[in-house]
Amino acid sequence: MITGTAPVIRTAGLVKRYGRIHALDGLDLEVGEGQIHGFLGPNGAGKSTTIRVLLGLARATAGEASVFGEDPWRNAVPLHRRIASVPGDVSLWPNLSGGEAIDLIARLHGIPRQDAAFQAEKQRLMSQFQFDPRKKGRAYSKGNRQKVALIAALAIPAELYIFDEPTSGLDPLMEVVFRQEVDRIRARGATLLLSSHILSEVEQLCDRVSIIRAGRIVESGTLAELRHLTRTEVSFDADVSPETIPGAHDLTLSEGRARFTVDSDAVSGILPVLAQRDVQGLRIEPPSLEELFLRHYGDDVRELEEAGAKG
Ligand code: ATP
Repeated sequence: MITGTAPVIRTAGLVKRYGRIHALDGLDLEVGEGQIHGFLGPNGAGKSTTIRVLLGLARATAGEASVFGEDPWRNAVPLHRRIASVPGDVSLWPNLSGGEAIDLIARLHGIPRQDAAFQAEKQRLMSQFQFDPRKKGRAYSKGNRQKVALIAALAIPAELYIFDEPTSGLDPLMEVVFRQEVDRIRARGATLLLSSHILSEVEQLCDRVSIIRAGRIVESGTLAELRHLTRTEVSFDADVSPETIPGAHDLTLSEGRARFTVDSDAVSGILPVLAQRDVQGLRIEPPSLEELFLRHYGDDVRELEEAGAKG
């Protein structure tokens, strides 16, 4: 639930059909002001389609979408002054250099080329991302095209950033730089919707996450809230199986360790019991986003594994 100010992004029952394909099938998404919101789902789940609707690039078949309370299809012009975005598949002007493309994207956002603050940010970001701005657009690799769009977007002092899988073409070193830039967005109090299919990225960067499957949100909340949905794993050194521990599930003993799972909100309740037994080598591992993800996509993964085993 979002408290305080109205959400920056809100969709309700959003539907987008392409012929018989239901790209979005009743999507309810809320992103509050100042959130770094992960939009997580596998290929084809509908992330890019949602983003295209939010940017006014695609018209919803049914349902509602609003950005800063406005309809992005009808009010794209004023909205785009407040938004900076990176598309999933960046295409550049083939005959402009990378530097010229960055300036042009900024000018489309109403920032004049000679704007000193923008130029300083652009220089800083080009150096951070180790980007050579002199090549022509047609000569850049996928990763470098992505850097052009990222540098332009990050240099614009927007209220809302919408990035569609921005790190998919970046090498690990550049991902570190990207993370630092997300921290800067957070520190400024701006909002970011970050689509990704990389669980660890969302886990590291985002304070909220919405998981999309087949055009619908299947889970949404803070990482802490979502962790309540799966069990925490507890283990400690043991030679003999301990008798029942209240609240413990699936208690096993193997390789000198006792292991069990416990509902995440019941962990504090079992700590006194473990302390009383003076257990050694205690490990308590909260569920990862990956486990949460597998809860929703487990069937898909099993189907793939079975298909692989047959093929
Ligand atoms: P990815 O991670 O691969 O980018 P995604 O989550 O962004 O995936 P979308 O690109 O939104 O998913 O696609 C959702 C569904 O809509 C897919 O089945 C896709 O094939 C279909 N789709 C998207 N755009 C079109 C289009 N222009 N015409 C027909 N089908 C489309």
